[in-house]
This record gives sequence, structure tokens and C-alpha cells, in this order.
Amino acid sequence: MIITMRNESTSPDQQRIVQHLQERGYQTHVLSGSGAPVIGVNGRAITDGLADEVCRMPGVDAVNPSMKPYMLAQRSARPNGSIIDVGGVRIGADEPVIMAGTCVVENREITIQAAELVKAAGGTILRGGAFKPRTSPYSFQGLGEEGLQILAEARERTGLPVVTEVMEPEQVDLVARYADMLQIGSRNMSNFPLLRRAAASGKPILLKRGFSATIEEWLMSAEYVLAGGNDQIVLCERGIRGFDTVTRFTLDLNAVPVIRELTHLPIVVDPSHGTGRRELVAPMSLAGIAAGAHGLILEMHPDPDSALCDGAQSIPPATLNGIVASVRAMNQALKGVSTPLVAVA
Ligand code: PEP
Ligand code: MN
Repeated sequence: MIITMRNESTSPDQQRIVQHLQERGYQTHVLSGSGAPVIGVNGRAITDGLADEVCRMPGVDAVNPSMKPYMLAQRSARPNGSIIDVGGVRIGADEPVIMAGTCVVENREITIQAAELVKAAGGTILRGGAFKPRTSPYSFQGLGEEGLQILAEARERTGLPVVTEVMEPEQVDLVARYADMLQIGSRNMSNFPLLRRAAASGKPILLKRGFSATIEEWLMSAEYVLAGGNDQIVLCERGIRGFDTVTRFTLDLNAVPVIRELTHLPIVVDPSHGTGRRELVAPMSLAGIAAGAHGLILEMHPDPDSALCDGAQSIPPATLNGIVASVRAMNQALKGVSTPLVAVA
């Protein structure tokens, strides 16, 4: 059940409801932050009588009896959708957001060059890993704090906010000191201690889908962050494991309209990891936007063939320019028709 409070409701109004429900054996979680406060309720079946009772309590605007396991992430908690602010860039609003940069921060020169290229192309957020989850322990693992310092310098020079991965709960404070947005990688989507710590940082979080995770498991991971008091979450579809080896992963574009139906959280698409091949990144970028994504995260390298990580899927700067231009054109073209394309529960 989701209880939407009136904007002018007071915190004693909320406390009264929370107490009323807890005394009856229900679990409650208050979602505040952007938009009207909502109280998520679960733990036991909701009787019609209870929903009516709560409806009449002071400060209550509406009660939705739906019982989703991801009670705070469900669409009806914020029917108009959430907009996440990352250093002044709004994700979930009308304009698709383009995050781009190298897979890993290799050195100062390449990262600054990449940031300037992203900026020149019209990208709005810089990506780059300082801590990298590599399949092989012998591969380059990233520059660590030095990489974070380089990202911060690139932000200073270009004004682009920075998204970068955090892999361990103990790293959250360090990464949060430098980053505008914390990326939780596919391999860590179900790392619940990491989700809790990342939530507590208060920073916006880019939550990538585990490549073997169902959409419901992914939303339950988002729920950990919401239950931890942080509603600044952007979901990222980055491809799931299929049986075909022609591409690295299978970009699940079904997930885009499904996510828009099930949750108020914005979604971006990562066609770089989703395909593993740079020549597929432009078409799948457009497909992602056409499906209703709020943005893209793209691996771009000034010289992709020399990249230390994920070069095969990294696009050159000219391709990024083309993608930004065509995404803008497509978004413009879709403006009049986007409502029928997106089913809102
Ligand atoms: C990345 O963004 O470079 C990355 C490692 O992504 P994922 O966690 O989706 O594999
Ligand atoms: Mn990568």
C-alpha cells in the first residue's frame, strides 16, 4: 500500500499514521525528498477497512492499496516520475541525458581530452572508472584515488558532473567525496551492504542491472537504496546474458518500457556493454531512446584501439557527435507521440 501525503501535511501527521500502522503489525517506510511525502506499507495483507481508515486521517491525500514488494520504487509512489539532479543535470525530465567517457580513467591527459570531447559533442555527464570490477585479477584495476582526482579536475575544466563506480562499502565515503553520482556496477547490483552504504551517502546513484538479474530483483535493489532514505536513483539497462556470442551481452530493451510502467525511477541505457561492439552502439542508442529511455551512458575514447579497457565497444569522438545529434532529433520527433508509446501504470 502507498499513502500519498498532502504537500502541506506535517511530520506529526506522518508519525500518527506510521504509529497507527505499526501498532497493527505493518512495516512502514517514509519516502520524502523530491515530491510529496509518501508512506510505503507492507508486511501483511491490507484490509479494505484499513485503507479507508487511513484515507480519513489528517494530511492524507490518497491511498493506493497495491502490494508490490518494491513498495517505494513502485510507480504509484510518484505517479509523475522522479527527476534526479546530478550536479545540475536533470535525469528523468524531457531531454535525454548523455553520459560518456572512457571505460577506465587511464591517465590525466586522456581523461581531460575525453571530457573536452564529451563536452564539445553536447554530452552532459562524464563517466570513467577509477575502481574497476575486472573479470581477470590480472587486468588493470584502475587508478583508485588518483583516478578520482583526475575526474575532479576534468569536472573543473569542463563543468561536467562525474559518475564513477564504487565497488565496496568501505570505498563509498572516498568515492562520494569526488563524484557527483555513484555507479553501482552490474556485478554488484545485489551487494546489499554496498547498496546500504551508498544510500547513506545521499549521493545520486546509477544502479546498473545485474546481467543475470530479473527486473524485479533489480527493483528490489533500488528498494534497498530507497529504504535507506535515498530517492536519488537512476536505473541502467546494460544488457543481460543470453546464449548468443555474436554480441557481448543482449541489450534488453523490453526493460525500458517495463521499467517506465513499474517504477517512477528514471532509466538510462548502456549500449556499450549491452553490445560489446562499437559499430552497434549508435543504432542501439537510438533504439533505447525510441523505447523511452531518459538517457544513455556511452564508452567513448579519443583513440579506442589503444584503450586499456573495453576498447572494442568504445566509440570514437566522431560517433559520439553523431549519436548526440541523432538522439536530439529523435527526441524532438517523438515529442508529439511519446505518450502512447509509454504505458503508465
Ligand atoms: C562499466 O560501466 O565500465 C562497467 C563495468 O559496467 P557494468 O557494471 O555494467 O559491467
Ligand atoms: Mn566498461
